[in-house]
Amino acid sequence: MQFEKKPLIVALAGNPNSGKTTLFNNLTGSNQHVGNYPGVTVEKKEGILNFKGHQIKLIDLPGTYSLSAYSIEEVITRNFIIEERPDVVVNIVDASNIERNLYMTTQLLELRVPVIIALNMSDMAQNRGIITDEKLLGHLLGVTVVSTVGHKRKGMDDLLQAMLDTVNNVHGFNPSSVNYGKEFEEELGRLTETIDQTKQLPKDYLPRWIALKLLEEDHEVDKLVRDLDSSEQIFVLAEEGRERIKKILGEDPSQVISDCRYGFISGACSEAIRLVGEHRHDISDKIDLALIHPVLGLPIFGFLMWLMFNLTFTFGEKPMEWIEAGIGMLTDFLTANLPAGMLTSLIVDGIIGGVGGVLVFLPNIVLLFLVIALLEDTGYMARAAFVMDRVMHKIGLHGKSFIPMLIGFGCSVPAYMGSRILEDKTDRLVTLHITTFMSCGARLPVYILICGAFWPDKAGNVVFSIYALGILTAVLVARVLRQVRFRGMSAPFIMELPPYRIPTLRSLIIHMWERSWLYLRKAGTIILGISVIMWFLMTFPQKQIFDRDYDGLIKAASTAQIQGEITAEEMEAQILDYENARSAEKIRDSFAGRLGHFIEPVIKPLGFDWRLGIAIISGFAAKEVVVSTMGTIYGVGETDEDSSTLRNSLSADPHYSKLIAYAFLVFVLLYVPCMAAMTVFLHESGSWKELAFQVIYTTGLAWLMAFIVYQGGRLLGLD
Ligand code: GDP
Ligand code: MG
Repeated sequence: MQFEKKPLIVALAGNPNSGKTTLFNNLTGSNQHVGNYPGVTVEKKEGILNFKGHQIKLIDLPGTYSLSAYSIEEVITRNFIIEERPDVVVNIVDASNIERNLYMTTQLLELRVPVIIALNMSDMAQNRGIITDEKLLGHLLGVTVVSTVGHKRKGMDDLLQAMLDTVNNVHGFNPSSVNYGKEFEEELGRLTETIDQTKQLPKDYLPRWIALKLLEEDHEVDKLVRDLDSSEQIFVLAEEGRERIKKILGEDPSQVISDCRYGFISGACSEAIRLVGEHRHDISDKIDLALIHPVLGLPIFGFLMWLMFNLTFTFGEKPMEWIEAGIGMLTDFLTANLPAGMLTSLIVDGIIGGVGGVLVFLPNIVLLFLVIALLEDTGYMARAAFVMDRVMHKIGLHGKSFIPMLIGFGCSVPAYMGSRILEDKTDRLVTLHITTFMSCGARLPVYILICGAFWPDKAGNVVFSIYALGILTAVLVARVLRQVRFRGMSAPFIMELPPYRIPTLRSLIIHMWERSWLYLRKAGTIILGISVIMWFLMTFPQKQIFDRDYDGLIKAASTAQIQGEITAEEMEAQILDYENARSAEKIRDSFAGRLGHFIEPVIKPLGFDWRLGIAIISGFAAKEVVVSTMGTIYGVGETDEDSSTLRNSLSADPHYSKLIAYAFLVFVLLYVPCMAAMTVFLHESGSWKELAFQVIYTTGLAWLMAFIVYQGGRLLGLD
């Protein structure tokens, strides 16, 4: 018995001269007829064929380079796909000119219709030394890719089979989409939501697509939106969005869109295509020849990171001294003019010592974020991620994981949130677990303080070594976690490689300011609060009587020097000793002192004394607090109005050495994320168990590494 089945509708779309008509003829033979699209003189070719008992109606759409609305062909192609909803769109891509051809593909994918790619002219590509890994390319784009040679009828059956598989949804359909960057996506999201709320769109149109087209100033879509009740509101919103994008990114939204699409394509092709022999390259490609070179890429990345920290230091030094001097003057002024007592101590030692100690590092923070913004905006960060991608694959992680890790240099909170870009839950967990080791901006003040005190001439190098150690630890830990707790490999993906560009000053300043402001706000809120609490814990209960008469001892030392019994240097050393002993004694019996002493046995093997113990514990709240606590420790301990800086106090303290300082840096680098980060970690991992694991293993690792540094260093005689 014969029964009528509706034929499958399959549309062929692609750039002119990609071989559409050739494929169409191959597939349909003589079963074709030519008509016109309604109202226009553009030829419409249709044909019928049978494959494995299925009737397929094939339509050869006009050849176009894009799906904007610049030409009648583009509009026809686009409207046909949106309104007629073919069962499958076969996108013919010229493999010998693939990057340009894929530009249209990115737009087809945005329409969320089932797409197959016919990688045509694959013979020509091969002759030119362009070797495409079609499986990988398909995987990256989220579609099936079939290699064909049109004029030799190669790959036709595979193509037909792919059509059926797609219609029957054998592989599931999950096309990749271009990410247009944070600022742009925010505008897009806002607009999409408003459009979505109207509920008046013809059902075939996707709100996100309409929003994108409005930002792109597509006049055809303007016409469509004009009929909606809330068109006024939508147009205003779109206009504002375009203005904001122009201001922040310094470019027309349509330019941003095409840059991002090409970035996406360039990333996909860098992964899936191998070039053998000689090739043309545009400027971005030329720069990339060096920057993402398989051998040179990594050292270049390392060098740039090294440069970043050294610049941060060199240029941060002077403004830092000014702020230090200003805070010193303020301290002197208040000490001289306020009545001595609890309140003055709270203000001077607690608040100014704590918050001031953190504010001192603002110039470094601003500079670091400026350099990061510069690297991001020029397009280098994407390359860094790309370079790391190879390393990441080796350790069983997605290259995408490196993005949250990069964000982690700023702050773990957005970094943890950034891990959402990973679809796979295991990938996400591993990434969450190692992102902690990407040293966050809040730890930087600690490094600057310690390195400035102990390695005044080489501070930048030492800080760099700590950051590098963080990355290395992350890589090794990921490997171990992959083998022990989270087995399995991750899927490949597209790393977007946008063209290099000169960043706008405005966008640099906005990015830098956003983050610096966050730092300032933290200093004024959390750090202020913790400083007051730490001051309280360090001041109470009050110590009234000291074990020794320090004032007497200090007087005796200076008398001895006057009488020539000891040299001036010896006297100074003795006085410093007494002062330190007194300050230690003062804090020793306070709540904080007792807590510090309580944990001292645990940290003694690392070379840390109870004061570093207090600093470490206070760092649970926020990492900058390690610095402010040190400030308060020295502030509360100090009795005379010695305006020496915290750095000087630390380097002069006989309890500490370079080795201990380095062990301390290592500990601060690796131990638990701060409270705020832990909250987000819990939210993102969705499991108390993972959080507990994170806290325990990071702190354990911090202890172990600091132990190795300190004890190993002592064995080598470095102390
Ligand atoms: P359309 O503009 O997309 O319809 O492209 P056509 O089908 O008219 O093809 C343009 C030219 O490319 C013709 O001369 C075809 O013979 C040739 N062609 C089509 N497919 C292939 C292929 O796979 N390899 C090579 N080398 N040439 C092809
Ligand atoms: Mg043609």
